[in-house]
Amino acid sequence: MERTLLIIKPDALQRRLAGRIVARFEEKGFQIVALKLARLPEAVIRRHYGAHEGKPFYEPLVRYMSGSPVLLLVVRARNAVAVARKMMGATFGANADPGTIRGDFAVSNRFNLIHGSDSPEAAEREIALFFKPEELHETPDPQEGMIYDLSTGERV
Ligand code: UDP
Ligand code: MG
Repeated sequence: MERTLLIIKPDALQRRLAGRIVARFEEKGFQIVALKLARLPEAVIRRHYGAHEGKPFYEPLVRYMSGSPVLLLVVRARNAVAVARKMMGATFGANADPGTIRGDFAVSNRFNLIHGSDSPEAAEREIALFFKPEELHETPDPQEGMIYDLSTGERV
C-alpha cells in the first residue's frame, strides 16, 4: 500500500467542488488517512513547490496557493501516487482528458483544482511537510476485502 498527498486548491474550494473531488477518491477505493483545511503560509508553499523556483509561473503559483484556504489530504491505496495522478489528469485543464478531475472541471493552465505528489518519495516528503505523525490515521480498513482480492494473501 502507498500513501499520497493531495491538495484541493483554492479554486476548487471557492467553486464548491471540494466535496465532489474528495468523493472521487473515496469512490475509487482510496482510504482517507488525514484531512484538514488550512491557509498555507507562503514559506510552506515555496518549500512545497521548491522544484519550480525560478520558472516563470513560480511567483503567480505561490500567490494562487497562498491566497485562501486549501484542503490537505493524505490518502492510501495500492499504487496511490500513480492512480491519483491518472485521476487528476494532465496539468493544463484544457489538455486533460474528459473523465479526469481537471478534464471535467478545469480549463486553466494554473487554476487546475488539485495537487497530487508525483512519486512515492515526494509523497512522503510532502506528507511530512503538512502533517504531524499523530494527525495520520492508518486504521484497519474493514472494506479492504471488497476493494481488493485478498484471497491469495496479496492485495490484487
Ligand atoms: N503551473 C502553472 N503554469 C505552468 C505550469 C504549472 O501555473 O506552465 C501551475 C499549476 O497550478 C500546476 C503547478 O504549477 O499544477 C505545479 O506544476 P507541475 O508541473 O508540478 O504540475 P502538476 O504536478 O500539478 O500536474
Ligand atoms: Mg507537480
